[in-house]
Amino acid sequence: MFPNTRRRKSVQVDVGGVKIGGDAPIVVQSMTNTDTCDVKATADQIETLYKAGSSIVRITVNTKEAAAAVPDIYEELYKRGLTVPIVGDFHYNGHILLTEYKECARLLAKYRINPGNVGFGKWHDKNFLMMIDAALEHNKPVRIGVNWGSLDQRLLTRLMDENRDSGKSSDEIVLDAMVISAIESAEQAEAHGLPSNKIILSAKVSEIDKLVRVYRSLAEKTEYALHLGLTEAGLGTAGIIKSAIGIGILLHEGIGDTIRVSLTPRPGGRREEEVEVAKEILQAMGLSAYGFEVTACPGCGRTTSEEFQILAAKLSDYVKSLKVKNRLKIAVMGCVVNGPGESKYSDIGVSLPGTGEGDKCVVFFKGKKYKTVPVKEVEAVVKSLVESVVEI
Ligand code: SF4
Repeated sequence: MFPNTRRRKSVQVDVGGVKIGGDAPIVVQSMTNTDTCDVKATADQIETLYKAGSSIVRITVNTKEAAAAVPDIYEELYKRGLTVPIVGDFHYNGHILLTEYKECARLLAKYRINPGNVGFGKWHDKNFLMMIDAALEHNKPVRIGVNWGSLDQRLLTRLMDENRDSGKSSDEIVLDAMVISAIESAEQAEAHGLPSNKIILSAKVSEIDKLVRVYRSLAEKTEYALHLGLTEAGLGTAGIIKSAIGIGILLHEGIGDTIRVSLTPRPGGRREEEVEVAKEILQAMGLSAYGFEVTACPGCGRTTSEEFQILAAKLSDYVKSLKVKNRLKIAVMGCVVNGPGESKYSDIGVSLPGTGEGDKCVVFFKGKKYKTVPVKEVEAVVKSLVESVVEI
């Protein structure tokens, strides 16, 4: 739907073997919410997120114990045959942890640095550059991740002073400060020796219009790869919709090289839901590198049977279980009104009989009528067509 040629040009970064930016497909990533010191729980959740489709998983590295646990987590994942790149999320003490815990620094695939949380006054630059030194020593990329809620106060104060008579609102100045913080930090890292193909930027806010404004500005001013996502998107449907709209607007403009959907799970909820939502966003935008998309009509008074809903749900579960290399679309329609037309725009289409239309389904394959089959046989026929085209 949206060819890669419309993507904003960005410098490609290798994160533990996963390419981000340039001509690489847009990558889904996520973050654990376990205590990193709990090696088994963290490895379990990394495995779950990875198997759900998260190409990269971030973990909190907030204490010496957490840094010391990183090699154990890697060993546990290795035993399970998992090679997912792990990103360390550092705030306040990252310069100490990355310097003192060499194995942690050596094993992590990327360091996330928040320039608003690296120290104050003279310590800011010193601590920030200690983390860049660790990235240089271990040949690792970094994500300079600015956050609306933890903006560099020194920079913000400077911009507030400079813009006193500019007519800009304080919100506008904060958004400008986010962009400047990300870019100046990246330039500082480059001046210290870290090349641009080791730098990814993000600037997360929790409101859609602000997110769009900040990322448009970053995209216009730089060629660094961009990590895209709303921060604190929220719970359930509201969080999903906010993320889909915010991320969707930017992806539609060709902005964004990797996405993370920050959903708040309900207590005991499934963490991997954020990965499923991120994948669905890419799928819906036509940006997924591979996978089947099952579309279905909503149903109406022309079909009172649940047959098409059952078939759509079964096929959706079936194709999600397949690890495929190609992209294909399956359409399941509830009656003959839009069925044949819609089915022709899909690789595989099924038009089930509506009320009073008998018990035969019309199956379309690659835009042409394939055959007419009884309802009870249609699932098997569609699966056999999937198997004939799937690339594993
Ligand atoms: S395809 Fe048929 S059943 Fe489905 S919404 Fe359209 S008219 Fe209704």
